[in-house]
Amino acid sequence: MSTAHDLNNLRDRLSPSDRMPLVFLGHGSPMNSIEDTAFSRAWTDLGRSLPHPEAILVVSAHWMTHETTLVDVSSTPRTIHDFYGFPEQLYAQTYPAHGDPKLAREVVSLLASHHAQGDENWRLDHGAWTVLKYMYPNADVPVFQVSIDMSQGLDYQLEVGRALADLRDRGVLILGSGNIVHNLRAMRPGGRPQDFALEFDALFADRLTARDFDTLANPAQLGNLLRMAHPSLDHYLPARPWQAPPTARMS
Ligand code: ZN
Repeated sequence: MSTAHDLNNLRDRLSPSDRMPLVFLGHGSPMNSIEDTAFSRAWTDLGRSLPHPEAILVVSAHWMTHETTLVDVSSTPRTIHDFYGFPEQLYAQTYPAHGDPKLAREVVSLLASHHAQGDENWRLDHGAWTVLKYMYPNADVPVFQVSIDMSQGLDYQLEVGRALADLRDRGVLILGSGNIVHNLRAMRPGGRPQDFALEFDALFADRLTARDFDTLANPAQLGNLLRMAHPSLDHYLPARPWQAPPTARMS
């Protein structure tokens, strides 16, 4: 099945919407899901401020695959407690949203050239549910995750983002969940942020404001600062710009 055919299917099934915002959140500690913090309050406010989506596609730092992109096609995605050593109360948390198997299978087709496959084993990891429980506390919007193929470079990640960007015009909220800086070994809990962290945060904000996605996807240009902010790229990649090139936009 061709990508053009799949786009037509989506066009028929999902009604046009105003372009949905693209959201990238730093999910931080899973404890945010049971604590009243500045972050959890901001996620509540964010959910209230967004247009109501038809479905939510989540790319979480915690679903990494190799040489494939997996798409959760389950109808009732189970809540995964993919962390260790936290209070029992955290393991009792659930997020009972439904999936959207039909849309998820169409996403598999859209990403056919990116080795995509349907999956029913992963479900919702804490990068997804710990923020969604504040953004959409009633769990009344279908949610499904798309994995990150860690065997590929940043150019490839950008292509995946571009292949899915038109979903934003069909009422789908794309939520990237990672962190702008993620270097646990250099973390100073409760202390002053590291200089490199502040510097990378400022650089990211500056390049994003300038819509300079090429620099943000170019490790050579980001240099040592990127390596310090992200010893591995899993928490950075969900921030990939989901920007469709003008010729690929659906009308
Ligand atoms: Zn994380």
